[in-house]
Amino acid sequence: MVTSQTGTRSVSTGIVAWCPSEAAPHRYSAISSPGPSDCREDSVDFCLEQRRLLLRDSIRDFVKKECASTFVREIDRQAEWPATLYEGLAELGYLGILFPEEYSGVGCDALDLALVAEELSCGCYALAVAYRQSIVLGGMSVALGGADDLKREVLPSVAEGKTTLTWALTERDISSDAGYITTVARPEGGGYVVNGTKMFIYGADRADHCTVIARTSGEPGDRQGITVLLVPLKGTPGISMRPLRKMGTWPVKAFELQLRDVAVPATRVLGTVDEGWSLVRGVLDLEYIASAASSVGISQRMVDDASAYVKQRVQFDTVIGKFQAVAHMVVDMLSDVELMRYMTYRAALMHAQGLPCTKEVALAKLYCSRSSERVGKNGVQVMGGYGYMAEFDMERNYRDSRREAFASGSSLELHGLVAKLMGL
Ligand SMILES: Cc1cc2nc3c(=O)[nH]c(=O)nc-3n(C[C@H](O)[C@H](O)[C@H](O)COP(=O)(O)OP(=O)(O)OC[C@H]3O[C@@H](n4cnc5c(N)ncnc54)[C@H](O)[C@@H]3O)c2cc1C
Repeated sequence: MVTSQTGTRSVSTGIVAWCPSEAAPHRYSAISSPGPSDCREDSVDFCLEQRRLLLRDSIRDFVKKECASTFVREIDRQAEWPATLYEGLAELGYLGILFPEEYSGVGCDALDLALVAEELSCGCYALAVAYRQSIVLGGMSVALGGADDLKREVLPSVAEGKTTLTWALTERDISSDAGYITTVARPEGGGYVVNGTKMFIYGADRADHCTVIARTSGEPGDRQGITVLLVPLKGTPGISMRPLRKMGTWPVKAFELQLRDVAVPATRVLGTVDEGWSLVRGVLDLEYIASAASSVGISQRMVDDASAYVKQRVQFDTVIGKFQAVAHMVVDMLSDVELMRYMTYRAALMHAQGLPCTKEVALAKLYCSRSSERVGKNGVQVMGGYGYMAEFDMERNYRDSRREAFASGSSLELHGLVAKLMGL
């Protein structure tokens, strides 16, 4: 097993300090800070409340101490689940922050989530993906839809890192149009029997339970008749998995997940039978915010790495950052990231304030995933051949960042969603 460089974790959480308080007003007005802005220390702080800044900075400290480049590169090369980092997040209390207080959570909101996802993605994108899979997609489907007893059983354990969750919506032939899913949950003996095959399920090998979206009634194409169930995976008869090779995020593996006559008690229904679509939408809104924030974080990292590289690489007796063509590419990368961050924080704050924001959230995910692709392309380009080599983080981050254009909704799907919301 690859162990983190520092071995010990000495990061102070300040957990009480960054707990949300009713009294804390939400403010959103970006103020430009003077001086150079080629690293986040010089970026605007969006007038984030003190507790949010504390949360962001404590995660940033954790990432700085634990996510050394050599370590992150090695777990990627070995395709090894980021166990020590994930345990570190659990020990410091970060895994449960989105959950309600009565279930060992802190009750943080979507803007807090964006800050966490951004920082994690900047240091170790695979860790952010592991976090989102278990906490956002899995955990929040339980937090938003589970019965009280189920939440008590599952959420504290997820917050402690003892239980891991995942999410299964996509199928081999059906994904962009989820109303057509063919996985069926048939009522039987007071519970359900689930049959179907789910595709691209991240972290299924690690997960104790999986949020499975299945049809319980209605016709193919109906959004009505969809039910969400929390299906135990480990040791459950009828569950099998086929690993899938993929382009990036190697530490978190992907699977085709088969469910054959899997018995699920009725107590594990999340939300309302036949009306699960609104729960799916609610969870996906949070995941889209996390996705946009992850694109911001990984892109910021690519800007920082490109900027540092072009300041020291010499050709024709000149550091290449002095060549206008190179400098302009790095500036383009930075301007992309700044705009991505605005869109993400705005959508996250709208969500946190309870405003209707499906369009803004989808736009943020769409724009950020596309922009991070451009940032990565420029980043690899300005580093020349070294940008293509695995001994530099740019190569991995470019590969990994492509994930956001597909996972939990492809860019073209999001175009369709936004067009619909615009009445087109
Ligand atoms: C890295 C990764 C991780 C994932 N993790 C998970 C997971 O953990 N759980 C899970 O359930 N799913 C997961 N997914 C699945 C993901 O949500 C789907 O890949 C995504 O929804 C797109 O579905 P598809 O790949 O079947 O593409 P398709 O639906 O076959 O679409 C193919 C292309 O056609 C476009 N297209 C489709 N319909 C239209 C239309 N009407 N108009 C215009 N364009 C259209 C799509 O946007 C896409 O570009 C993951 C996917 C990836 C790549």
